[in-house]
Amino acid sequence: MSYINQDRFIDHCAVFGTYDLKESIYSTILGLHALQHRGQEASGVFYFQESGLFSFKKGIGKVSEVYAGFDHEKIENPRVTNGHNRYSTFGGSEEKNIQPLYAQINKDNISISHNGNITNAHYLKQNLLEDGCIFQSDMDTEVILHLIAKSKETNIIEKIQDALRKVEGAYSLIITYNDEIIAIRDPNGIRPLVLGKKDNGFVLSSETCGLDIINATFEREIDPGEILLINDKGIKSFSIANKVNKTFCIFEYIYFARPDSNFLNQNVYEARINIGKQLYLENKKNNSDIVIPVPDSGLASAIGYSEASGIPFQLGIIRNHYVGRSFIQPKQELRDLAVKMKHNVNLKLLQGKSITLIDDSIVRGTTSKKIVSLLKNAGVKKIHFKVASPAIIGSCYYGVDTPNEDNLIANIKNLEEIKDYLEVDTLQYLSLEGLYKAVNGNQGYCDACFTKKYPVPLIDQTLKKQQKEQIKLV
Ligand code: SF4
Repeated sequence: MSYINQDRFIDHCAVFGTYDLKESIYSTILGLHALQHRGQEASGVFYFQESGLFSFKKGIGKVSEVYAGFDHEKIENPRVTNGHNRYSTFGGSEEKNIQPLYAQINKDNISISHNGNITNAHYLKQNLLEDGCIFQSDMDTEVILHLIAKSKETNIIEKIQDALRKVEGAYSLIITYNDEIIAIRDPNGIRPLVLGKKDNGFVLSSETCGLDIINATFEREIDPGEILLINDKGIKSFSIANKVNKTFCIFEYIYFARPDSNFLNQNVYEARINIGKQLYLENKKNNSDIVIPVPDSGLASAIGYSEASGIPFQLGIIRNHYVGRSFIQPKQELRDLAVKMKHNVNLKLLQGKSITLIDDSIVRGTTSKKIVSLLKNAGVKKIHFKVASPAIIGSCYYGVDTPNEDNLIANIKNLEEIKDYLEVDTLQYLSLEGLYKAVNGNQGYCDACFTKKYPVPLIDQTLKKQQKEQIKLV
């Protein structure tokens, strides 16, 4: 991982699919473009035509790179499309790991796109390998494909139900089965997935911003534990399991999702504004001259804080948007300058000022420390650091790339120690109660990275730990 992103929770993946839509391949590419923030390593579109023909367009890179020059207009409009943007949380970033995955099961064509992470994938894979299954990728998603193929049930919905009852973890899936499309959310609904409509066709997207770009209207969210089948008979809903325990990822509001998306009737931008206001309400003592965000993630919360406190909002840090994950890594001796490739401070605005600095979260603390140092070198007098989330003390195992617990600064240092490490004058995190207030109360959320209360068992993690302990005993 490049230094650029080592100090952030990294977005997982995006899924986008269409059923019976005009210009469906073009719409899918546009949808994936709108969802680019959820995965920038690779992208793929699978499409199945009425004539029974199917094909792929896949590649490593951003959407604009992968589909550049792709002459989709020459292709007969497909009945179904299945699209995916990848950021690898399981398996590497080689070609073989680009989704959607495809297989033929008894002459039926099946493709699958996945956003999330299977927490018992290693365990299931081991059993499948012992049963003679051959894997073509390193992805946890392939486990689901094998389980579907091995199921003795007779129709595709029963096969999927049978397969998913063995699977633990976070999964929002789009599956195409010949000319049908199936949308699925795990019984906790950890990752998002929405249904939209356009003309007589249907659209599935990780976020509502994927619907907006093609002028599709929002119909509803796929429910936790729901399997939604769309075919020429219409829409039909099935369940994975009887037990549903809604725990949608609360971090989607803080950082992952695009500000113009909505979940559970809550607009993400508004939630971030509320978070900023809440930060102020939790500690009104502040004599800063200005409020500045760490762009872009701290922007909306800083606006909210400024509104609530009356302290003027200013863009004191400018972000360079053209620094990608694969950008050239600086030599060791220039590492301290590395942060300047992404952020620069507005010297004229900041000199001699006392500032409130707002960022969405602190993960390892290394980037925050560098930004503080840039600000001090620019002549900032005092820095009051406000964090628009509670302290992160646990890693995420549900489809987000996070550092190991031992590298999370709030897991290894207390508030005073973090303040000293960052060399700021004061440090304040948002409370967990405050976060819930900002997102319209507790409608059923996962907050495990702030509480270590994991709503879905971490089977692979537990097995790994047990194995290590056994090795120690030997
Ligand atoms: S652990 Fe954190 S990032 Fe992961 S799903 Fe839960 S709230 Fe979201």
